Amino acid sequence: MIKFISKEILEDYRNKTCFLRVDLNFSPNEDHLRIESIIPTIKLLLDFNIKIIIGSHRGRFDKETPSLEPFVEIISSKVKEKVFFSDNYEIPDNTEEKIVLLENLRQEKQEEENNKEFAKKLADLADFYINDAFAVSHRENASIAQITRFLPSFGGLCLEKEVQNLSKALNNPRSPFTLILGGAKTADKIRVIKNLWSKLDHVLLGGGPANTFLLERGVDIGNSLAQRDARGLIETFAFTEKVKVPVDFKKEEDHIFDIGEETIKKYSEIISQSKMIIWNGPMGKFEDKKFREGTEKILEALIKNKEAEIIIGGGETISSLNQELSNNIFLSTGGGSMLEFLSGKELPGLKALNK
Ligand code: ADP
Ligand code: MG
Repeated sequence: MIKFISKEILEDYRNKTCFLRVDLNFSPNEDHLRIESIIPTIKLLLDFNIKIIIGSHRGRFDKETPSLEPFVEIISSKVKEKVFFSDNYEIPDNTEEKIVLLENLRQEKQEEENNKEFAKKLADLADFYINDAFAVSHRENASIAQITRFLPSFGGLCLEKEVQNLSKALNNPRSPFTLILGGAKTADKIRVIKNLWSKLDHVLLGGGPANTFLLERGVDIGNSLAQRDARGLIETFAFTEKVKVPVDFKKEEDHIFDIGEETIKKYSEIISQSKMIIWNGPMGKFEDKKFREGTEKILEALIKNKEAEIIIGGGETISSLNQELSNNIFLSTGGGSMLEFLSGKELPGLKALNK
């Protein structure tokens, strides 16, 4: 069982120091859901006068790892506390700030190598550890999967909400249960269909997953985005009633870029009758205005359904949302991690807490 933080637990750590792993893997210029999601845990820790060492990554070591320094101002203004920035993962003895933000952990190669010594070095900064970074908990990284060897370890408030909501969908979904998948990472999404298959009533497809199934059904998709080597993965359910593919499209040359009017109608009807819905991945190439309608209309249909429990996740899916949502809708901060969780895999970050 993962122990999640509570007032009783934190009472034992009053005036102590916590290493808090969060996910700041986004541009500081965007008003991202993930920043809001880490604030409740920070505020709760401050209530117990706990010193907080915040660690996060951004980007990948072998590609680009921008500095986290711009987040100092953002976190500071949200929690009304001064934040000290450490660019070398060390904290001078005379540091007065209650919150310290460490430089991007992936600027050290050892973070992604899941290196024990690096994990130990981070652990030595604190008395206990909290993972509040669901979005990166599918990664075997030092500050996620290794650090828990060295410190009493707990799940944070954001992580708790993620695990609760997604477990419900996984183990005990209400029926009719509808899964909506779009976007790009088709192979990962197919694993979710497979794992949830027996519990699902409808699978509504858009984007790459739709094109992949259309291809399997013998439809000419031209040069559209699809997983062309997915045959073995989908043949068992490609032709079933449960899986709905678009009946019309918006195209440009030989590319399918969005679902069409008829499909929107059909999908919206199913959404209105569902009691549990998971949505991951946009219905089309929504960054382009011409191909945004499918994604927008599906979101409208979801918002209209106040009876269903709804989970929406995925980086791009979330960034396409810009309105207030009612409280039957849970926004998951996870992209890849949400898909892996729903595929039935045990995430390394959760496994590490489960001891
Ligand atoms: P998420 O981040 O929500 O999980 P993905 O990363 O899997 O979603 O994919 C999102 C991307 O998929 C978007 O950039 C979008 O433009 C693209 N996309 C969706 N449908 C299509 C399509 N039919 N053709 C090309 N790109 C598409
Ligand atoms: Mg994405």
